[in-house]
Amino acid sequence: MAYVIGAACIGTTDRSCVDVCPVDCISADDGDQMLFIDPVACIDCAACVEPCPVEAIALEAQVPAEWREFVEINRLHFEDAVAARELVVAWVGRQ
Ligand code: SF4
Ligand code: SF4
Repeated sequence: MAYVIGAACIGTTDRSCVDVCPVDCISADDGDQMLFIDPVACIDCAACVEPCPVEAIALEAQVPAEWREFVEINRLHFEDAVAARELVVAWVGRQ
């Protein structure tokens, strides 16, 4: 289990979550429209939840149904950042 960043981060990316994460497991690359949480490194401390101005972060089991795809997108970013970015672009295109 880990925390997951959902679609509300897209276009916000203020990095408030990055500033409070004790294990530095939230990141993005140049060109990404949102940030991602590394599910392997996340220690489930929840410190990032409250500072997020758009309530984009939730525990994996509590991610809203319309954002379920972002569980995989967050994980994928740390394995294949380009593929994760393409999934975000596709998600935005469907809205
Ligand atoms: S839950 Fe804690 S460890 Fe996980 S991303 Fe948020 S601040 Fe970092
Ligand atoms: S605090 Fe929320 S909106 Fe800001 S970068 Fe983190 S997840 Fe995205």
